[in-house]
Order: sequence, then C-alpha cells, then structure tokens
Amino acid sequence: MINTLDFLSRSPEQTRHIGMRLGGALQAGDLICLQGDLGAGKTTFVQGIAQGWGSLDSVSSPTFILVNIYRRADRSQLFHMDAYRLDSTPEAEQLDLDSMLADGALVIEWPERMDGLIPAERLWVNLEHIADEEREMKFKASGKRYNELLDVIRHAIVGGD
Ligand code: ADP
Ligand code: MG
Repeated sequence: MINTLDFLSRSPEQTRHIGMRLGGALQAGDLICLQGDLGAGKTTFVQGIAQGWGSLDSVSSPTFILVNIYRRADRSQLFHMDAYRLDSTPEAEQLDLDSMLADGALVIEWPERMDGLIPAERLWVNLEHIADEEREMKFKASGKRYNELLDVIRHAIVGGD
C-alpha cells in the first residue's frame, strides 16, 4: 500500500509547521526518511518534528556525529541521523537502525546513502528547492502505519493551522 502527497511549502515556517504536526504523532518504531539536496529544508523540517514531538533539546545538524538523540520529559527518545558523511556500507551497517527503532522514532537525512539498509515500511519525504522560499515536499507512505501519518500531514495542510 503506497500513497503519495505533494505540497508546495512557501516558507520555512510552513515547513516547520507541517513537521510539528507530524512530530506530534510520532511513536517509537516510526521511520521518516528525508531526501533532498543541501538547503532543501530537511533540517528545518526536523526542527518542526522535534518541537511537535516535545523535545527538550534543540535540533542541530548531526553532520559530524551522525546521530543526535533528543529527549522528552517522559524519557522517550527521538533519533536524528544525517547519513551525508557515510562513505562505506560497513560504516552504515554499524548504525543499528533496528535498535534505534526499538527505542524511539527515527528521522534520517540523506537516507539514499544507506541504500539497502532502510526498512521497506517508512514515510519517505522528498524535498526540492523551487525558488527562494519555495520548497516542493513529496510524501510517499509505504505501509499502514505510514498511511496514518500521511493523513496527519494531509490534515495539517488542509486545516492550514
Ligand atoms: P538541509 O538540511 O536540507 O540542508 P536546511 O533546513 O538546513 O536544509 O536549510 C534550508 C534553508 O532554506 C534554511 O535556511 C531555510 O530557512 C531556507 N528555506 C527557505 N524557504 C524554505 C521552505 N519553504 N522550507 C524550508 N526551508 C526553507
Ligand atoms: Mg540538514
């Protein structure tokens, strides 16, 4: 079951807002993949996700340490991975996605660098620079859980609040 949704974000705030609504719905085991070039808005979207999820920590780009872990008052965890600097499959394999997913939700920037290691069921988001403040966001849900999350995003967009 694969469903898609396309949206044109017209500001960083709008991108963050959709992220917040998604973040508010995230549970342990959820996997969100964010594909897009540098400056496409991946980290901006993660800022919204972390805020909506209720993170006590602020979001930064985990470029050097690969994975940031955000905490919440109830001690649950949100993992934020940036695979940009991965340059070998063995290195990627050491990042045990399954154990992270057992402990929390996981958001991955540059997931295409981990080809073959990403579970088939996930929400895949493609971000593309269109103009100065415009970013196209293409959402693709694979599996029942991710179709539920796609509905959350659909409501955030249609509701407009
Ligand atoms: P990435 O993580 O994909 O490299 P960032 O989120 O770090 O991208 O940077 C995106 C940049 O583009 C930020 O400076 C952000 O303010 C800007 N921007 C402008 N318009 C948008 C938009 N509609 N959505 C997201 N970011 C936007
Ligand atoms: Mg980034």
